Amino acid sequence: MSALHTRALEEIARSAGHAADGAGATVRSALAAIRASRTGPDDLNAFLMLDDAGAAAVAEAVDRAVAGGSAAGPLAGVPVAIKDNICTRDMPTTCGSRILEGYVSPFEATAVRHLRAAGAVLVGKTNMDEFAMGSSTENSAYGPVRNPHDTTRVPGGSSGGSAAAVAAGLVPAALGSDTGGSVRQPAALCGVVGLKPTWGRVSRYGLVAFGSSLDQIGTFGKTVRDAALLCEVIAGNDPRDATCVDLPVPALTHASTMGAAGLTVGLPREYFGDGLDPDVRARCTAAIEALREQGVNCREVSLPHTAWAIPAYYVIAPAEASSNLARYDGVRYGLRDERAETARDVYTRSRSAGFGAEVKRRIMLGTFALSAGYHDQFYGRAQRVRARIRADFRSLFDAGVDAIFTPTTPAPAFRLGEKTLDPVQMYLSDVYTVTANLAGLPAVSVPIGTVRGLPVGGQVMADHWREDTVVRVAAALERALSP
Ligand code: GLN
Repeated sequence: MSALHTRALEEIARSAGHAADGAGATVRSALAAIRASRTGPDDLNAFLMLDDAGAAAVAEAVDRAVAGGSAAGPLAGVPVAIKDNICTRDMPTTCGSRILEGYVSPFEATAVRHLRAAGAVLVGKTNMDEFAMGSSTENSAYGPVRNPHDTTRVPGGSSGGSAAAVAAGLVPAALGSDTGGSVRQPAALCGVVGLKPTWGRVSRYGLVAFGSSLDQIGTFGKTVRDAALLCEVIAGNDPRDATCVDLPVPALTHASTMGAAGLTVGLPREYFGDGLDPDVRARCTAAIEALREQGVNCREVSLPHTAWAIPAYYVIAPAEASSNLARYDGVRYGLRDERAETARDVYTRSRSAGFGAEVKRRIMLGTFALSAGYHDQFYGRAQRVRARIRADFRSLFDAGVDAIFTPTTPAPAFRLGEKTLDPVQMYLSDVYTVTANLAGLPAVSVPIGTVRGLPVGGQVMADHWREDTVVRVAAALERALSP
């Protein structure tokens, strides 16, 4: 069995308080630990759905195969959690929304099919901000997720359930989605590794669309190696997603062992300016020092259009969302208000009752930004900013910079409720992460220590298709900084 499997056994056994042996026992322990995490005032609320029967059947099949001497896949018997905007056939896919309550997809996401083929055991679906819109997982229609390091604080978002589940040791690995930082930001706030591949590296087939030109499925692990292994398993060309590229998948697990000596890492000064918590800055300085000690050339660089990334993102993402979410009309999927009398009434009532406040805000923003007369002023301009942000990165990579290191977030986890009344403050949590989505680049968040007892993350970005480079630098940081 794989090393991940062995470590999974140990971790889960420890957190569930009893020993595990084999895939069946591991999965039972994981499910017991998840149930235990759902009790009392510290209820993590990380999961929306568990599949006990399905998980047990797969685990038994793995145990039988291993006992019979057949080759086990790279994730054989490993319990994996799936963000609830990634379609699964045996469990509902609600996207954390009332409008999809109980909705079961007739097909499965390509990433999920790859996980199954590798022997993974899908234990459940994780809680998230409704339709992946948010930075704290407080926008879920099914209640907020709590940060396992301090249950009065948010886990980040929108993939807060997946990040919290890995951080609490409930599962060794999980899938999330990242449109503007939703894998990296919760990974940072929960003290785990979160990897967002290049746009086009992992099929989006079966990932419920939010901002299609930004969305990517990403992976969570306790270690860089685990997040890299999961990414290697789900990556690859897919005829069902025309934007998915036909390029060989790099050996990411191997990359995590290669070291980073000789690489050039750029430190963009715009990411270390005002608004960065001084203690987070200190952790970044220590991380940069650790890279230098490992033979990495670190030098200051500039990404001059960074300040316009958040405004551009919060035009483009809502614009695409307003179009993608038009399909929830009360007719084709999920919730329908039965009191409606006309077709128009069906749409209005179902959408009014089914969507939460943040989703409605995004739909209104996006519809406005795309409307006649304003299209060029907002959407067109945001796209021009996006082109400049891409060009900023291009010129660094062309000048020999291999990777870029930044903080993942300006500060550690905030308190539940602290930013819910101020959407702009919430949006600013993504100030360092949205650029990778606007430019389509691979990026990872890796723990770089704690600040006031709370985990913080460092972000590594690299050129398109160079997930191997982000993994090398992140693994070097992990080795140097792990206690
Ligand atoms: N927090 C950002 C938003 O609300 C990013 C979300 C995401 O990556 N899915 O749009």
